Amino acid sequence: MILYSTNHQSPDVSLEEAVFRGLPSDNGLYMPHIIPTLPVSFFENIDKMSITDIAFEVSKALLSDDISDDDLKMIVERAINFDAPMVEIEENTYVLELFHGPSMAFKDFGARFMASLMSYFLQKSQKDVHILVATSGDTGGAVAQGFYKTPGIKVTILYPTGKVSDIQEKQLTTLGENVTALEIDGTFDDCQSLVKAAFLDKDLSSKFNLASANSINISRLIPQSFYYFQAFAALKRQGNTKPVVFCVPSGNFGNISAGLIAKRMGLPVKMFVAATNANNVIPEYLKTGNYVSKISQETISNAMDVGNPSNFIRMRLLAGDVHEQVVTHITGDFSTDTATRKAMKEVFERTNYIMCPHTAVAYLGLKSYTDTLNEEVAGVVLSTAHYAKFLDVVEDTLGTKVEVPERLSDLLSKEKVAIPLSKEFVDFKKYLLS
Ligand SMILES: *Cc1c(COP(=O)(O)O)cnc(C)c1O
Repeated sequence: MILYSTNHQSPDVSLEEAVFRGLPSDNGLYMPHIIPTLPVSFFENIDKMSITDIAFEVSKALLSDDISDDDLKMIVERAINFDAPMVEIEENTYVLELFHGPSMAFKDFGARFMASLMSYFLQKSQKDVHILVATSGDTGGAVAQGFYKTPGIKVTILYPTGKVSDIQEKQLTTLGENVTALEIDGTFDDCQSLVKAAFLDKDLSSKFNLASANSINISRLIPQSFYYFQAFAALKRQGNTKPVVFCVPSGNFGNISAGLIAKRMGLPVKMFVAATNANNVIPEYLKTGNYVSKISQETISNAMDVGNPSNFIRMRLLAGDVHEQVVTHITGDFSTDTATRKAMKEVFERTNYIMCPHTAVAYLGLKSYTDTLNEEVAGVVLSTAHYAKFLDVVEDTLGTKVEVPERLSDLLSKEKVAIPLSKEFVDFKKYLLS
């Protein structure tokens, strides 16, 4: 895979370079020059394949110039070792549950594949790397789990004290081994500034092989395409012949970009619905053709509180670049917190199915689109997190106590280990050098 920068001011790179660099120096995003189409036989046999088989075939089509089949198989098997089941919650409406990985959110797909790929490249070159990540919550947990006990990789996670939920904090601070959590006396932006400053610091970069694991890394995008094929396989197993619509609860728009990659590789998709909360920059762009970033607003679906989505350019390019092309692939919808809570309660009372707030935003997005159609479709709502990760909102909205999976309740009883630090770079640097 050869990748270019969307700003065209930085040279083309190999997969390995893109994975370790993360961002091109011209501040664009890396994009593959070529996205291959999968053979017809793949789609004919897809209903007989497991998600790991599918992941292998899709990644082989994309990455076979960089990695041998045997190695790729090992990388995929290590990363994609949990399922993504589809649940039909009402007629023609399916929930694709992407939260069965270790951190119970869909970010496990991206983080685990990135870790597996980095570890493979490092073993080949006999190098070590020190990964720095700033997190406002969910990303940190998935990254920490993804890199946990990975040979050659040391991970330092910076999070703002008092600003992440209990469960999120425990996911960051109870692993140990090669994962260290730093509790920063500041905001998420302070954490991010510390990481940026570390990459620019000459003493640190000469002493350590520093790398970033941020969400725009191409190795996090690729594995998110796997489960769109998996959803299609599940529908085929049920004998579905209706056109397929995916509704994606979106924040930085990486997830929906991966869906567009799947479509470019041949997956038949009638439409993608980009569903957001009140942070509706993209639904507005889809409606008007104008992209106007905003200051982000806080909502109950807080993993999507993004005012300037970092993958916008990727999404636009993958959907044909010009607005009139883009809207043939993607339509937008946004929901208020009030509407989101109402949907969570109404679906629970009618079907007993519990949706996290992000999933409920997507449920509403799907309905608002299918209501405009005069044909039946198979609607797939991507469920990006387990409801118990948002326990307070869920119990308050549903008016009842809900069951918490053992994996999360066990976590709450574990002891937190974090190193408290100020937001001053001198302190952070002193810590890293010590
Ligand atoms: C990160 C996240 C999203 C948004 O995904 P993007 O790829 O940034 O659009 C949605 N839901 C949950 C639970 C998340 O953690």
